[in-house]
Amino acid sequence: MKAFDPKQRHTTSGQITIALYRIAQAIEYAFRQRSKEVHLSPAQIQALLFLKNARTHAHTITGLANRLGVTLATSSDVVDALEHKRLVERAPLPDDQRVVTLTLTPQGERQAEELENVLDEIEIAVDSLPDAEKTALLHATQAIVRRLQSAGYVRVYEMCWGCQFFRRNAHPDNPQAPHHCAFMDAPLPEADTYRECPDFVPAEIERG
Ligand code: SF4
Repeated sequence: MKAFDPKQRHTTSGQITIALYRIAQAIEYAFRQRSKEVHLSPAQIQALLFLKNARTHAHTITGLANRLGVTLATSSDVVDALEHKRLVERAPLPDDQRVVTLTLTPQGERQAEELENVLDEIEIAVDSLPDAEKTALLHATQAIVRRLQSAGYVRVYEMCWGCQFFRRNAHPDNPQAPHHCAFMDAPLPEADTYRECPDFVPAEIERG
């Protein structure tokens, strides 16, 4: 298997691999273009989106490093730059001063909201496909991501709804937190179920 070898490109797997490579290039291009417009690096854009959408317990230098797939030093540099631009604030956790949490400033919140459409061109291209092709593509790409996740190539942060630890409406008498997370063994407020979580494990596979 050598997807970059032109003689191998005739295989279906080789052609799909190169197509995924081109989509990855298009995504990088979208981030670079937006970078120029808003004067933030692609890593800074991803950091703002992470802090806007991920569960708050992951809002640390380590959590950001895991999300970006970079070293702690690089993660810290990204946060330094965002602090300098007054988009992010560092603060020690009230009950554990050794842990420094990261929070978006009001300006950072606004900026992150404006950046959420950075992948619109990709989504428009996907949306132009017939429904049956979209469904097939969804299942195929999910299977590819699961395999890459198991091999340690990608860390998936996702919302509760497809997670094997999610227990929907486990606490019907608790309107403040009607759902349950079996991983944390704690009730979940509805709003928290829409946050990307580093502990997410797809319902179909076992934790590696
Ligand atoms: S482990 Fe799963 S159910 Fe628990 S908070 Fe994370 S995504 Fe939600």
